[in-house]
Amino acid sequence: MKTLILGNGAAGIEAALSLRKHNEETSITLLTESRWLHYYRPKLIHFLAEEQSPEDLITYDEAFYQKKNIYNILGRKAVAIDTSARRVTDQYGGVYGYDQLLIATGSRPFVPPIDGIGKEGVFTLRSITDAQRIRRYSEQVTDVVVIGGGLLGLENSFSLHQLGKKVTVIESVPWLLPRQLDETGGKYLQKLLEAKGLNFLLGGQVETIVGGTQVEGVRLKDGRFISCGAVLVSAGVRGDMDFLKGTPIAANRGILVDDRMRTNVEGVWAAGDVCEHRGITYGLWIVAREQGQVAGLDMAGQPTSYEGSIPSSLLKITGINVFSMGDVKAVGESLEALNESSYKKLVVDDHAHPLAAMVVGDRSAIGTAQKVMSGKVPAEEFKKHLQPPEEHRD
Ligand SMILES: Cc1cc2nc3c(=O)[nH]c(=O)nc-3n(C[C@H](O)[C@H](O)[C@H](O)COP(=O)(O)OP(=O)(O)OC[C@H]3O[C@@H](n4cnc5c(N)ncnc54)[C@H](O)[C@@H]3O)c2cc1C
Repeated sequence: MKTLILGNGAAGIEAALSLRKHNEETSITLLTESRWLHYYRPKLIHFLAEEQSPEDLITYDEAFYQKKNIYNILGRKAVAIDTSARRVTDQYGGVYGYDQLLIATGSRPFVPPIDGIGKEGVFTLRSITDAQRIRRYSEQVTDVVVIGGGLLGLENSFSLHQLGKKVTVIESVPWLLPRQLDETGGKYLQKLLEAKGLNFLLGGQVETIVGGTQVEGVRLKDGRFISCGAVLVSAGVRGDMDFLKGTPIAANRGILVDDRMRTNVEGVWAAGDVCEHRGITYGLWIVAREQGQVAGLDMAGQPTSYEGSIPSSLLKITGINVFSMGDVKAVGESLEALNESSYKKLVVDDHAHPLAAMVVGDRSAIGTAQKVMSGKVPAEEFKKHLQPPEEHRD
């Protein structure tokens, strides 16, 4: 039995390990475009800001894979799949046969079709190599524009700020973290980040990246111009599914999978950012791991079920605690408080079931919000965090 896994990210590695745990016989090959062994991708934010070696990010060394009898092929990108002959071809013409195939190729940054986007000095951050390029290039610039005020955009911005750059974040929605916070929360967070030295242009859309071969600035649709030497695009991600062309594997925003992470084609599974489960593509590390585990178990003949996740997010490295979980657009009864040091909100339905929670700046409220959202404590518990600070201290 030959198992081939495309991609050594969270989903691919988790699948390989859970498959190996339950099946010592099958050969497992991880075929990956990246030239690095598996690493914890969220740490790239720190890697961008601090002097670290790529090896510091790597989770398992070569010896670990040898012990687990997992064969890594790095620096090879799958470009075609033949599901009838059960083989995959890489960009150099290498051919790999399989009995079972898991597609765990993750996603890529979405780059909007902005005029001038191809200029030298425009970057996205997804890999160690991207972070190295950004660091190197930013040595010669003082001002950077970050396109996108989502989680990754803010984290990227803060890393660049830590590198001593003057950073301006441009976001088309009038407040920050529009997928994680409501307007009050987003605007409150903006004030805290401005106090830390970041600059924001909200409700604006970049129309052109100005310059010769290199970036010199960006022009917004409303005519405003911001001078900068580099642009970091952080406008969400998309699954990269070019290699599906000509296959019967069904895909929408991601490769469609059932609760066992099986695609519509026998012998082919998909997990992580590249897949779409019950209409959702998550783009979250923990979800990719969980889905990878379910796929690995299924490939080992131990079917189990992935039932979906309630997305939750935390903002890293800015030193401001931000938590969001559930559907921030949910309508219901709202328990909320805004004061100088924090913003907290819990939305519940008519039966006091939690629908969404968002917290900016109060670590203890985050703990309670997490417990409420996962059903461990009743929504009432959140109320203790809504009292004015003095009363709360008593
Ligand atoms: C800077 C950064 C910070 C993040 N922070 C967080 C966070 O704090 N919390 C959180 O939940 N999520 C975070 N994420 C998102 C998280 O990293 C992803 O959801 C997660 O990595 C998805 O895992 P995956 O295994 O599906 O894909 P990936 O981790 O993207 O791995 C896919 C692998 O497949 C390889 N590959 C791609 N195409 C091919 C191909 N054609 N052939 C062979 N190999 C291929 C790639 O080289 C890659 O190694 C962050 C992402 C980034 C970039």
